[in-house]
Amino acid sequence: MANYRIATIEGDGIGPEVAQATIKVLSEACGAAKLDFQMFEGGAGHYMKTGQVLPDDTFKACRDLDAILHGAAGLPSVTYPDGTEVGNDLHLRLRFQLDLYANVRPVKLLPGVLSPLRAFQDGGIDYVIIRENTEGLYASRGAGVLLRNEFASDSLVITRKGTERVAKFAFELSRKRRGAPRDGKRRVTVCDKANILRSYAFFRSVCDEVHTGFPDVEIDYAYADAITVHMVKRPDFYDVIVAENMFGDIISDLGAATVGGMGISPSGEIGDANALFQGAHGSAPDIAGQNLASPIATILSGVMMLRWLADRHEDTSLEDAADRVEAAVGVVLSEKRAVPVDLGGKATCSDVTDAICRAMN
Ligand code: ATP
Ligand code: MG
Repeated sequence: MANYRIATIEGDGIGPEVAQATIKVLSEACGAAKLDFQMFEGGAGHYMKTGQVLPDDTFKACRDLDAILHGAAGLPSVTYPDGTEVGNDLHLRLRFQLDLYANVRPVKLLPGVLSPLRAFQDGGIDYVIIRENTEGLYASRGAGVLLRNEFASDSLVITRKGTERVAKFAFELSRKRRGAPRDGKRRVTVCDKANILRSYAFFRSVCDEVHTGFPDVEIDYAYADAITVHMVKRPDFYDVIVAENMFGDIISDLGAATVGGMGISPSGEIGDANALFQGAHGSAPDIAGQNLASPIATILSGVMMLRWLADRHEDTSLEDAADRVEAAVGVVLSEKRAVPVDLGGKATCSDVTDAICRAMN
């Protein structure tokens, strides 16, 4: 069976800790020879040393190897002259240059984790947010206008191509994913503000057109403000939510909060040729280097990576390994073998990692 080369960027802050934890768990699950984690530099710390946040060889490896695993990048003190954070650039460049258009953010309450939504403690939160990752309001980044310190403007870009591909991704995911909403329906919810802006109305109408190819999946609509209420009051209604870039950014943090927070929430950024996996959190410099970070978000992102590779290469051994890791995380949390600090426990990053490895054997 094939081996896979993983372009790995540890990055800044807690990035190295959570990336190493993930390498350990995935190597244990797949066998050490199966995954070849090749390490590359990048991030705010690297910029301080060299003036480059994403060196050429790192970019080429990300483009040419089989998948990308990223710890986290960015340090608040390392900024460009315009005040924007250097670290974000690494991620944004990979996102745009590799055209990683679907940002997949599962929102799933794991066994043993306390949700602030008491009504759903025993099940019902298991859906996926697909954030459009290449256009929307964030396409204006770096191109906004500020006039005489009196007027500022950014523009929101929605294209047919960009919307069609992310909508298709959402409908296909709804068809094939394992989880389902409480009523068992396959459903894609389009999150926008079609009642206010023409661009969002266009987003919705393109999603409608794509839906005609998926008659077995229900289509549903929610305004971005209203969905924040529904995600709290009836999260069990959702299956797949597809949202414009900025709305997707906002609602995925809310979704993460309902299932235990950023330390447990994975993310995958998927394009047609490449995919990047990292936890939904940032580099958390406040707890870096103290073995306090939860590695679970990155480990679950690694699970997403295994499933993405398994699908592309029709390699069921990776699918089995992904299942083993996911089950082990469930056992460690539900039996409270190692509860990370951000979930109210005392386990260090390495305690959690070791407990997950032990639970697989
Ligand atoms: P970014 O700009 O990259 O999104 P951010 O400013 O939103 O970053 P994060 O780095 O995501 O901030 O983290 C916010 C806080 O949440 C951190 O300061 C840290 O205390 C906590 N946190 C984040 N990730 C983890 C983790 N894996 N384990 C434990 N705590 C975490
Ligand atoms: Mg953030």
